[in-house]
Amino acid sequence: MKGIGPARAAILQAKDLTTVNDLLFYVPFRYEDRRNTKAIRELAPGEKAVVLARISSARLSRFRGRGQSVFEVVFEDGSGAFLHGRWFHGERYAETLIPGRRVALFGKVEFEGSPIARGAGDRVMVQPEIEVISDDDSNGDERIHTGGIVAVYEAAGKISTRAFRTLLWRVLDDVQLPSDPMPQSVRQRRNLPELASALKSVHQPASEEDVSLLNEFRTSAHHRLIFEEFFWLECGLSLKKTRARKTDGIAFSLTGEIRSQLKKLLPFKPTAAQRKVLGEIAADMSQPHPMNRLLQGDVGSGKTVVAAQACVIAIENGWQAAVLAPTELLAQQHFATLKKLTAPLDYTVTLLSGSQTPREKMQNKRLLEDGRIQIAVGTHALLQEDVAFQRLGLAVIDEQHRFGVRQRWELLQKGSGLPPDVLIMTATPIPRTLALTLYGDLDISIIDELPPGRRPVITRCVPETRVEQIYAFVAQQVAAGRQAYIVYPVVGDTDDLSSKSAEAMHKELATRVFSSFQIGLLHGRLPPDTKQTVMADFVSGKIQILVSTTVIEVGVDVPNASVMVIEQAERFGLAQLHQLRGRVGRGAHRSYCILVTGKMSPVAQERIRTLTESNDGFYIAEMDMKLRGPGEFFGTRQSGVPGLRLADLLRDGDILQEAREEAAALLSRPESEAEVRDAVQYIKENWQRRYGLVEVA
Ligand code: ADP
Ligand code: MG
Repeated sequence: MKGIGPARAAILQAKDLTTVNDLLFYVPFRYEDRRNTKAIRELAPGEKAVVLARISSARLSRFRGRGQSVFEVVFEDGSGAFLHGRWFHGERYAETLIPGRRVALFGKVEFEGSPIARGAGDRVMVQPEIEVISDDDSNGDERIHTGGIVAVYEAAGKISTRAFRTLLWRVLDDVQLPSDPMPQSVRQRRNLPELASALKSVHQPASEEDVSLLNEFRTSAHHRLIFEEFFWLECGLSLKKTRARKTDGIAFSLTGEIRSQLKKLLPFKPTAAQRKVLGEIAADMSQPHPMNRLLQGDVGSGKTVVAAQACVIAIENGWQAAVLAPTELLAQQHFATLKKLTAPLDYTVTLLSGSQTPREKMQNKRLLEDGRIQIAVGTHALLQEDVAFQRLGLAVIDEQHRFGVRQRWELLQKGSGLPPDVLIMTATPIPRTLALTLYGDLDISIIDELPPGRRPVITRCVPETRVEQIYAFVAQQVAAGRQAYIVYPVVGDTDDLSSKSAEAMHKELATRVFSSFQIGLLHGRLPPDTKQTVMADFVSGKIQILVSTTVIEVGVDVPNASVMVIEQAERFGLAQLHQLRGRVGRGAHRSYCILVTGKMSPVAQERIRTLTESNDGFYIAEMDMKLRGPGEFFGTRQSGVPGLRLADLLRDGDILQEAREEAAALLSRPESEAEVRDAVQYIKENWQRRYGLVEVA
C-alpha cells in the first residue's frame, strides 16, 4: 500500500494489523465534531471551532527559573483578524509550526480582552489541536482532518491518528472493499447495512451523523460491525459444538446398579440443583459422542460432589477418570475430597504431583497405564506427554480460567481411541456474556442453589484503625471452638513497605495477639510437604488460626472455620475476595467475613461495597467485569478471551444475544446449506485464528 514502508509495516504488525482488511477493521475509538469551520473574524468567544489558517509568526518563550515555556503562534486566514495559539511546554511544535505553513486548528476560542489575549480583536486558543496541512497534499486532505466529524484512532508507535486517517482514506478510496460475507437473509432480517458502507461510515462519518451515537458505537454501521463479530464467533463456536456431537465418543450407561453405587457416594441429600445438573451430565455421558460441558456454580454450591458422581459413572462403566486442578494445593484438596467421597466404593484414587519423587512418579505412571488407578488427580503434570492412561473415559478440569484451549486439546489426545468426555468446572462464576463467548462451544450446567442450612456469610468492612477489635472478635470465636483465617496481600518482605506480609504478621500475631492459641502460616513459597502438613493440621483443628495469602483462595474446605479476616482488603480483586469469603460459611455455624481496609480508591470502595451488599457470585462476577473490563477479567489475555475488535461484552450484551440467535438459526436451517458452507469457509479464512477456535469444521 502506498504510504506503508517497512518501518510502518513493522509498527502495524505489532498491532496485529497485517492486511488491508485488518486496517479496515481498525476502527476509530472516538469521534470529534469538527463541523463548525469558521473564519477567524467570525469566531465567537467560548465557541469550539475549526479554523483553517496560515502561520504568520511563531515564537518560543522560556520563563527563566520556572522551567516553563510557552510556544506561541499567530495565525491569519485573510479574514482580517488574527488568532493566537498557545501551547505550554510546546517545544515539540517548534519544528513543525513554521511561518508559511497551512494548518487546521480545533479548539475553544477565548474571548477578546481576556488576560491571555494581546491586541484588541485578537482571538486566542489555548492548547488547540493542530494539524499541518502540507501544501502538496491532495485537496481531499482538508476534508479528511477537518470540516466534519473526524475519526480519532489509537496511535501506534510513530503512526499518529492523523496518519491512520490518511491511510484509511486511501484504502477506502482506492481499494475494492470486501464483498459482504454475511448471509443476506440475516442482514435483511436484522436490518444491517452492507459491509462496505458500514466500514465507510465508521471511518468517515457523514456530517449529518449524530456524534454522540458515534461515540457510543451505536450507529447502524457500528451495530453491523459488532453484530458481525459476534455472529462469526457464535457460528464458529456452534459449528465446533456440532462437530463434537458428530464425533464418536464413549456411551456410558447408567444402570440401576450404577445408580445405587452413586447413592453410596453421598453422605447427604443432593440439592435439587445438584440433581438437575447430574441429570444433564449423565444424559451427555450416555450419548455416543464426547461430552463438552461446563459446570458453573458459586463457591460452596457442591460442584465437587457432582464431579465425583460423574467419575463414578465412568468408572463403573470400566473407564478411568482424570481430575485436573490449576494448583498443587487444589489438586491435594480434590484428591482428599475424592478419596473420602469414594471411600465406600473402593476405588484407587491417586495424586500425581510435581513434588513427588521420581520413583513415586514412575510407579504411579505404571499403575495408570495398567488401568489399576481409577481416579488420577493432578495439576498439568497430568498433561505431560509420558503420562498415559489405559482407558481414559472422563476428564474433569477445574479450570479457574488457567487452562487454555490448547491444553484442553492435549487432554483429549490422552484418550485411547475414543475421546474422553470432558467436564469443566469453574471455580468462579462467569458473567453470562463472557460464558457465551469464552465457553460458547460447551454446554452449560449451572448449580444455582446452596446446600441447605447455609446462612449467608455476614460481611463487614472495618477500617484498619480498629483492627485490634477484630482480633478480639477472632479470639472470642476461636475460644468458642471455631477456626479462623487471616489473609494478607503478600508473603514476605517486599519493596513496598506499606504492604502487610503474612510472614511478618504471623510472627506478630503469634507472639503478641494470639499467644494462647495455635496459629499456623500458609503461603505459596513453602515447600509442598510443609504446605500439606499445615493444611492437614488446620483441617484436623490442631491449628486454630491460619495466617495466609491467597493460596487458600480456592478449594480449601474446613466447615468449622467461621471467620475470614482479610487485611488490606482494598488490594484484592473482587472475585478473589469473594473466593476467600467462600472459605467460611461451609458448616452450620454463623460465619463472618471481615474486610479490614486502609485508604481506598473509588474503584476499591466500589469493590468492597459490592461484597458487603451481596453474596451472589454471579452478581459479583458481573460487577467485577464492569469494574475491570472484560479484557482484564481473567487477568491474562492468554486465557482464551476471543480477540474481539469492536465488540465489548459489557456494552454489547444485547447484540451478542441477537447474533447468537441468528447463528443458531442459520446453522439449523436445512435450506441454508449453501450459506453455511460459505460461512464455514469464511470463518476458516478470517476468524479461526483470531478466535482461537481449534478446527471449526
Ligand atoms: P464447590 O466445589 O462448588 O465450591 P464443594 O463441592 O466443595 O463446593 O461443596 C462445598 C461443601 O458443601 C462441602 O463441604 C460439601 O461436602 C458440602 N455439600 C455439597 N453438597 C451438599 C449437599 N447436597 N448437602 C449438604 N452439604 C453439601
Ligand atoms: Mg459420552
